[in-house]
Amino acid sequence: MPDELDPSTGRALADGPPPATRPVGVVGAGTMGAGIAEVAARAGHEVRLLDAAAGAAPAGADGVRRRLEREVDRGRVTSADASDVLARLAVVDDVAALACCGVVVEAVAEDLDVKRTLFAALEVVVADDILLATNTSSLSVTAVAAGARRPGRFVGLHFFNPAPRMSLVEVVRGEDSDPGTVDAACELVRAWGKTPVVVTSTPGFIVNRVARPFYGEAQRLVEEGVGDPATIDAVLREAGGFPMGPFELTDLVGQDVSLSVARSVWEQTFADPRYAPTVFQQRLVDAGRLGRKSGRGVYRYDADSTAPLDSAPATEPPRPAPASLDLVVWDAEDSPFPVMRPFLDRVVAGGVELPSTVADPEGADIEASTRGIRLPGGAVLVEVDHGDWSGLGGVIELDWAHDPAGCARVLLLPSADCPSESLHAAVGACQAAGVAVSVLPGSVGGVVARTVAMLVNEAVEVVARREASAEDVDVAMVLGTGYPSGPLGWGDAVGAHRVASLVQQLGDTHPSGRYRTSPLLHRALVRGSHLRDL
Ligand code: NAD
Repeated sequence: MPDELDPSTGRALADGPPPATRPVGVVGAGTMGAGIAEVAARAGHEVRLLDAAAGAAPAGADGVRRRLEREVDRGRVTSADASDVLARLAVVDDVAALACCGVVVEAVAEDLDVKRTLFAALEVVVADDILLATNTSSLSVTAVAAGARRPGRFVGLHFFNPAPRMSLVEVVRGEDSDPGTVDAACELVRAWGKTPVVVTSTPGFIVNRVARPFYGEAQRLVEEGVGDPATIDAVLREAGGFPMGPFELTDLVGQDVSLSVARSVWEQTFADPRYAPTVFQQRLVDAGRLGRKSGRGVYRYDADSTAPLDSAPATEPPRPAPASLDLVVWDAEDSPFPVMRPFLDRVVAGGVELPSTVADPEGADIEASTRGIRLPGGAVLVEVDHGDWSGLGGVIELDWAHDPAGCARVLLLPSADCPSESLHAAVGACQAAGVAVSVLPGSVGGVVARTVAMLVNEAVEVVARREASAEDVDVAMVLGTGYPSGPLGWGDAVGAHRVASLVQQLGDTHPSGRYRTSPLLHRALVRGSHLRDL
């Protein structure tokens, strides 16, 4: 026998496979509503799907049927199971038909008045003990629930698109959400085979807030003239380990949609410069360059292909690798390549001799900032986060990679006074490791390190404000965005002091208020605690 939900909390009374409960109501049968209805029906719930537009709910249900048929064809679902799922999915045409539901999730238009009006109508017909959930992605859950008869039973259930495939659901607690409501929502999400993370109703929740710098830093790098979109995308993908670059991703999502998320978070934080949208993106939208859907965004697309036509990154031509280089270090504990050391092992495996410790003849007289690899031509190769290297006769910074032992590309950032002989030698040495090499002009934090530092700082800030737990932030960013690591775990791997130093340097270079180290980051440094344990 399937388990039942406790009607007072919506909570499962016992563990076990899909609980049969009172039906689940889903209002709005568009992209998200149809997907959520499918999720609930596949987990064993009776589902009632309602939409205000004529024909929209049957069309949503038909979409579920077609998706299930494809899964049957692929052998992932038996036709008997698919029939059972469809039998549990009923289309209804009036709010009154949701009176018997134990949970109602709305996925109607993203408009506060529309949502409030809908919930007011629902509260008239449903029982007092049910859970009411909004799938809003940008409105305040507190505001949606405000004025309701029982705001304590409201919660946000922020599914990601496509809902049947994406396992993350942000459970958003409004100002007045009862703790029991939040717990019940988490259990429901688990019963639907998804992973809940809990977050206070704040602009962007976890994912759309912490991810802001992923787009914002890349757009600023273009505005600052440091790099072109194709190279920045390739570096973040192939060195940073991100599944897509920020420019190709915003082209996919739609530059207008992406800008409206950026603008919404910025406006809701009373124009905090940390979240300011960019003129770069506004110009794209003004020009109608919305991305794939309009045939042109950052890149160009043709009708037959989803891949951009003009996204080739700048990649260095082959250069001869030097036979040997000198690694100048103080001692083994104080490596000038704390993050990228495993990459140097690949350079050595590629045939470049690199004595691991070379005592500098000048000993203590040497500038700390010249520690690194001595290159022909006189410049020094160092890792980003190196500090001020102006006037040292040429420095090349090596940007971070998420997986230095396996990355397919690295980025080198030469100072303006770097001799070309040194740059060619550095490129050749990196190519000996079997990677593609991109070169962009030196700027604080390069591309990957700058992006990662800002992601970590933002994640720390969410935890500092007690809006979500450290664990939930990392889970949300991996499941919601496909990042190769949760930002807090990533921060621990590279070292919180390096993150703090980079954000500080960025703030010194761009004193706009955007680059502020989170107070909790400082506290973690003082205490020596891991960011994941904040
Ligand atoms: P959509 O336009 O595809 O579907 C919305 C549906 O709601 C339409 O079928 C419309 O007819 C119906 N509708 C509008 N007002 C209604 C009402 N008063 N009563 C009943 N039905 C009504 O939109 P969507 O992309 O599915 O987004 C729905 C909600 O989910 C929004 O709040 C959005 O912010 C949120 N969301 C969207 C995404 C996404 O990627 N699309 C992701 C997460 C959350």
